[in-house]
Amino acid sequence: MNKNTCRKQNNGFTLIELMIVVAIIAILVVISIPIFTGKLAEARAATCDANRRSLKAELSSSYMSGEIFNEGLISSATLQRDYGKNFDFDTFCPEDGIITATFDGSSFSVYCSKHSNNSFGNKGVIMSLKDILSKYTVSKMDSGAEGVDDAYTNEFLKELKAAGIDLKKMGAQSWRYNKKDDMLYWSTVDIKDKAVGEAVPTLRYNFNTGTYTVWISKIGKDSVTNGGTEYNVLSGFSGYAPSTNNDKIQSYETALELYNQAVQKYK
Ligand SMILES: [Zn+2]
Repeated sequence: MNKNTCRKQNNGFTLIELMIVVAIIAILVVISIPIFTGKLAEARAATCDANRRSLKAELSSSYMSGEIFNEGLISSATLQRDYGKNFDFDTFCPEDGIITATFDGSSFSVYCSKHSNNSFGNKGVIMSLKDILSKYTVSKMDSGAEGVDDAYTNEFLKELKAAGIDLKKMGAQSWRYNKKDDMLYWSTVDIKDKAVGEAVPTLRYNFNTGTYTVWISKIGKDSVTNGGTEYNVLSGFSGYAPSTNNDKIQSYETALELYNQAVQKYK
């Protein structure tokens, strides 16, 4: 009789055993979710990297086979229009990052707004710029500086290069930092090739609000307060790019898309 009861008891699980099993499963689930999502993010980043690498190879071989590319920012629209190349940049990143390619005259760089640190106007790069800019006492830093503050600009560019940031390679042909407004303006258009008064699309970063805006800027000339020398700069802003409609502030991704639209329009 006693023996039978014992056997009966051994046949099933007690409540406490079941609870332990449930707890172990719960712990395994909790551990595996972040591992799984982490792996998924890694896999997506790797896909994006691979897609960008193959685009770079494609562009390089097209260039070497005799096709000529304009320097600066390249979008899938410019590739289609100017060279009949059919690349849909929107399909490159599994996490919907904005893909930009630049050509500096000798090599191509392909960036993703989500997966590369060095992309035109990317926040990480902008914050490094700010760190280096904050060391200088001048009120303006300008890519078109041709006067007494030239030395500061050259020093600044040297420091940037040392920090691994090559503005030209990233597609920023012209830029201006204004300490008073605490804003940074960038353009893929080289202002040296344009006349005073000509309109160029510009991406603006506001350090106070941390937001981006797309502008249509006019090329202008400024006087230097302590020397009377003139700059050739991006100034006399005529208003926002028509694509933004009003003074809406933008995320980097949206701003970059609008910027690319503005470039098409003002080419
Ligand atoms: Zn990406």
